[in-house]
Amino acid sequence: MSVLAVLEQRGGQWHRMSFETLAAAQQMAEELGTTASAAVLGHGVDALAKELAAKRLDRVYALEHELLKEYTPDAFTLALAEHIDRSKPALVLFPHTYQVRDFLPKLATRLDRIAVSDVVAHRVEGGTLTLVRQLFQGKVNVDVCFSGAAPHFASLQAGAYRADRVVAGSAAVEAVAPALSPSGIRTRPGEPFRESQRAVDLSAAELIVSVGRGIKEAGNIPLIENLAKALGAELAASRPICDAGWLPMERQVGSSGQTVAPKLYMAVGISGAIQHLVGMKGARTVVAINKDADAPIFEIADYGIVGDLFQVVPALIDALKK
Ligand SMILES: Cc1cc2nc3c(=O)[nH]c(=O)nc-3n(C[C@H](O)[C@H](O)[C@H](O)COP(=O)(O)OP(=O)(O)OC[C@H]3O[C@@H](n4cnc5c(N)ncnc54)[C@H](O)[C@@H]3O)c2cc1C
Repeated sequence: MSVLAVLEQRGGQWHRMSFETLAAAQQMAEELGTTASAAVLGHGVDALAKELAAKRLDRVYALEHELLKEYTPDAFTLALAEHIDRSKPALVLFPHTYQVRDFLPKLATRLDRIAVSDVVAHRVEGGTLTLVRQLFQGKVNVDVCFSGAAPHFASLQAGAYRADRVVAGSAAVEAVAPALSPSGIRTRPGEPFRESQRAVDLSAAELIVSVGRGIKEAGNIPLIENLAKALGAELAASRPICDAGWLPMERQVGSSGQTVAPKLYMAVGISGAIQHLVGMKGARTVVAINKDADAPIFEIADYGIVGDLFQVVPALIDALKK
């Protein structure tokens, strides 16, 4: 009755969210009084499995097959369904990536189960696990409990758990050879979608300076660009800034933009609307600069500066340059 974390990799590189899922699996297993294991699927995943063997896990499963080299929903579903059937975990956790969104409903349905998607938190009370997910653009949190027979499935929102909380240890690696044949796979993988060259992956940024409507006009954006440069940070924005075309859409953070989980998120002239918060609440440290002491952003900020950004930001840049 253990917890299984199914981790994502492509071409031998971990997806950043994989270790968030691993941390969540360890945490939930401990609170439920059970063990956590991890699985990685692909072709040539030995090195990745070895890396996992240095974590506090009961077992690392390396699901290895030529037909898992490129992602297809059929191969991933067949391989995992077979493995879950054999290893019998009680709870199977996934990072809520695009790939997982594609195959998890199919996998859960195949095993006659439901999957709880985009989980943001959990708690364990009296041995019962409750998962929390958001509805209506993050306006409402709902508690979800599983009923019926295991296994239960859930995917975890980016930034909901911290990858640096993964506990080290040692685990045995078990090589698993799923019974796959080309006839069971109905899709042929094409070239993975790639954003244009200019696209920015804010989700991988460690430092982000984000600008909101408090900046007043497009001509003032360079002030925030200079702050980002002085910090060595990526530049991001709230939606009105991108809607107005002052910064490209790819820099928008929030429910209809990117989800980020940097070490530092500096929100400058951003009010903290829920649609913005859902995209950045996974940041480790939030610094807010806003002239309105009652702005909602201060409710989640670790450090708040109540003041006029046109005075505070130049002073910060000067201090950083020194
Ligand atoms: C379906 C839907 C999806 C959405 N998706 C997103 C999304 O992905 N991302 C997103 O960001 N929003 C999104 N929104 C919009 C969201 O609701 C807010 O309108 C938006 O986040 C507000 O942006 P803001 O904080 O920059 O602007 P405002 O709410 O106008 O806040 C500006 C802030 O700047 C402060 N300020 C003004 N002048 C100064 C100054 N001189 N110095 C310091 N502070 C100053 C003000 O006190 C204020 O708090 C969405 C909305 C909907 C309905």
